[in-house]
Amino acid sequence: MARRRAASGDAPVCHVVGAGLAGLAAACRLASAGMRVRLYEAAPQAGGRCRSLPDQRFGTAIDNGAHVLMTGNRAALSFLRGIGAPSTALAPLDALEFRDLGDGSAWRIRPAGESAAWMLGRGLSIPGVPRGRLLWEGLRLLSARAGSRAGERLSPGGLAWRRLWRPFLKTVFNAEAAEVSAPHAAAVLKRLLSEGAASGRVLLAARPWSEIAAEPAVACLRRAGAEIAFGSPLLALERGEGRARRLIFRNRAVDAGRDPVILAVPNAAARRLCPDLVPALPHAPILNLHFETPEDLGLGFRCPVGGLVDAVFWRGPVVSVTIGGATGDGDAEALAAAAWAEAAAVLPRPPSLTPPPWRRIVEKRATVAATPEAFALRPGTATPEANLFLAGDWTATGLPSTIEGAVVSGRTAAEAALAAGTQ
Ligand SMILES: Cc1cc2nc3c(=O)[nH]c(=O)nc-3n(C[C@H](O)[C@H](O)[C@H](O)COP(=O)(O)OP(=O)(O)OC[C@H]3O[C@@H](n4cnc5c(N)ncnc54)[C@H](O)[C@@H]3O)c2cc1C
Repeated sequence: MARRRAASGDAPVCHVVGAGLAGLAAACRLASAGMRVRLYEAAPQAGGRCRSLPDQRFGTAIDNGAHVLMTGNRAALSFLRGIGAPSTALAPLDALEFRDLGDGSAWRIRPAGESAAWMLGRGLSIPGVPRGRLLWEGLRLLSARAGSRAGERLSPGGLAWRRLWRPFLKTVFNAEAAEVSAPHAAAVLKRLLSEGAASGRVLLAARPWSEIAAEPAVACLRRAGAEIAFGSPLLALERGEGRARRLIFRNRAVDAGRDPVILAVPNAAARRLCPDLVPALPHAPILNLHFETPEDLGLGFRCPVGGLVDAVFWRGPVVSVTIGGATGDGDAEALAAAAWAEAAAVLPRPPSLTPPPWRRIVEKRATVAATPEAFALRPGTATPEANLFLAGDWTATGLPSTIEGAVVSGRTAAEAALAAGTQ
């Protein structure tokens, strides 16, 4: 992509609406195929739900929420390579570390080798949970039928649930673990754990996410001659005679003619634009508390188990604490104190129990619900309009609402637009 020449003036045009990772992935694929891309984004910057914000008080950029990838997220990693993301931007974790806040026991999950065999060795050893039980439950999950929930295939309440299944399902799907669609959980489990370190290692963002994804993607698109309009919310999409015809923005309207249009906006925005094509999907929130510590802690990630907090990520002096499903209603100071106490229990150097300065970011519609019903509602890429395609982490990728899902959706929409553009 980075070495592609700019699209020629008579190349076909594709309109991409939304510059989150789905829209950026779609736009980059189209530009690399020689299409002229016009990208429209409501916000003043790209990145959508995976973005960084300058923070005056912290004196550094912080991410809206801690985002991690896995080595098995092939589409996302290939997208990042294609846009020339800095090669040192993602740091692999040798092992994922957990600590049970109940009794203080700690363990590590360390995928190794190139097959699922690592699960039979020391890489999967959880205190108080026989490995045979984990493997048996894993096999039960893998054989789940369509429509079933993780809570029906596993045993909520036991130690295996508390120490492995619940944290795994909650972190990957940002959902109440027992409610997660079992076949989708099985697909993720298989994909992430079956190739050892090649798929199961966690990758941490060593830099703010905007520097890893959004900014290199925008630079890459500009080099390829794409026109990018920030601060341009699409207000309406006129359709007729089996196609998307006009894109209406605040100060102008753009005729689509027969050009492909990719709608890569969040589910709620897509539904406002095309209520007959897009179902309203239930979403779940994520709350992040970012604490500024007096010292540089380096880079790390740990999962406390049995409390409020799902994950603790630190980069330099900023410790980011993730609480899935929370909106932060209620006493903010009390929540910050409780979250900091849990974070302090897993940080490498035990800090003072008094919370350092903090900032709270709530994403009310962070991810699409992961129940069987919500997965069944998710629409595919194609629409009844010949030149209109849907993208976004809420479309039917089969994946949870993640960076990988967003990139897969964008690339799928781009392939469909390319096919439509050549007909
Ligand atoms: C706090 C948090 C933590 C997360 N953690 C992880 C993680 O650890 N790992 C992981 O893989 N995923 C994680 N995710 C999920 C991941 O961020 C999303 O799945 C992904 O970024 C979604 O990308 P998208 O392009 O589908 O949608 P979005 O990022 O929502 O992009 C849609 C874009 O469309 C724009 N837009 C909206 N309306 C209009 C309009 N009318 N006209 C023009 N533009 C419009 C928006 O401004 C936005 O830029 C997390 C999400 C959150 C919120």
